[in-house]
Amino acid sequence: MSFDDLPVEVGPVFEGERIRGKQMYVELGGPKQEKKFELVRVVPSDKIEDGRVTIIGPDIPDIEEGSNVPWGIVIEMSGDKLEEDLESVLERRIHEFTNYIEGTMHLNQRYDVWQRVSKNAVKKGFNSLKFIGDILMRLYKAELPIVEKAQVTIYTDRGQMEAAYNEAMEIYEARDAKVRGMTDEGVDQFYGCVLCQSFAPTHVCIVTPQRTGLCGAINWFDARASARVDPKGPNFAIEKGDAIDESLGEFSGVNEIADSKSLGEVTRVALYSAMEVPHTSCGCFEAIVFYIPEVDGLGIVDRNFKGSAINGLPFSTMANQTGGGKQVPGFHGIAIEYIRSKKFLKHDGGWNRVVWMPSSVKERVKDDIPADMVNKIATEQEVSDLEQLEAFLKEKNHPLAASIVAAEEESEEEEEEEYGMAAAGGMPMGTMTMSVPGAGGVGGFTLILKNAKIHAEKVIIKRMDAGSKKRKK
Ligand SMILES: [Zn+2]
Repeated sequence: MSFDDLPVEVGPVFEGERIRGKQMYVELGGPKQEKKFELVRVVPSDKIEDGRVTIIGPDIPDIEEGSNVPWGIVIEMSGDKLEEDLESVLERRIHEFTNYIEGTMHLNQRYDVWQRVSKNAVKKGFNSLKFIGDILMRLYKAELPIVEKAQVTIYTDRGQMEAAYNEAMEIYEARDAKVRGMTDEGVDQFYGCVLCQSFAPTHVCIVTPQRTGLCGAINWFDARASARVDPKGPNFAIEKGDAIDESLGEFSGVNEIADSKSLGEVTRVALYSAMEVPHTSCGCFEAIVFYIPEVDGLGIVDRNFKGSAINGLPFSTMANQTGGGKQVPGFHGIAIEYIRSKKFLKHDGGWNRVVWMPSSVKERVKDDIPADMVNKIATEQEVSDLEQLEAFLKEKNHPLAASIVAAEEESEEEEEEEYGMAAAGGMPMGTMTMSVPGAGGVGGFTLILKNAKIHAEKVIIKRMDAGSKKRKK
């Protein structure tokens, strides 16, 4: 395949390219745009004018340098072996293929897509967004010969994008809905996805009926369709094997695949826990489940949440902690769709353990939160710090409230363990040795004061307990 006629180069070597704000000519979609999308559709061959790219809205010459514009892209494809079930997986390749283009950067997927084109690329002659469509079509045909014909429509005008955007949202929902109601117990095979291994070499996504791929774009049906047409490709069947621990969602077949695909880095994977040998996270998770030690609960923050989550950290900071194919107990990348699953954090206590989430996510998954829990989970609208969160949980009688109260009482008792030491008039003291016993009479420490002058009404010594769930105030 030749790209010699193009102003920029194309190839996997450009995949890791980052384009900072100062280097970008234009930003397409991303957090500044409320609505953006990318969609692949399989259509009959006679509906396609092969190779055509249509731009609806301003193109590069009309766009001021350094600005942000709306972004929608629809790639229609045909081919004898193509079927609708393959759309999700074909669509997911947009990420990889766009990143092949020198001077472009692509992040995320579906309704979160975020792209940049660099000033350098524009200087070299990348003077139309048509190049993106053109290159994508060439890469699809070269890498996936089942794609025979294609045409691309790009939207950069908010108003004219509306209908296509709404249609895309309906299609995403229909894909997601297809797998709802199925159970992990009801199938013998799960599927693996290693599309993200170029970024996270030890990461393999385990896609089950009740656990959608953590990018949110590949569910069990999608991975199955992809594995059928290309069993040696990025998606493949996993024989479930024996259930080692049903609560954790640990299966022998999954462990074997994780072990081999991560080259021995990850040997055990729990599908239903954020805390114990959790599933690894690549970089494109839609949300993060994070542990909040102060209340021993779990929070959820999604990619679109602006500002800091209840633990004081923004999504981006936690994403660094979570991603890269590591297994990090307490930082767990997930798809929004997985929040709806009956297996959601099952081993950690499920919804009874969830204490905080953004209101927008809560609204989206409301129907799948147990009715008696909906009002017990705080959002940024009710609380803004951990103290308020604790009060909220107690007030609403959240299932964790009792243990929060118990932890507080324990901490008050600690405060009462005061050691009053009156040294009236600040009289010089010789060497004074005090032994303070540790909890349960084990450990403890010795305090030696040499020639100390102490002026104090009282001295309070508090136990420092590193493992304490209670935040020191
Ligand atoms: Zn990924």
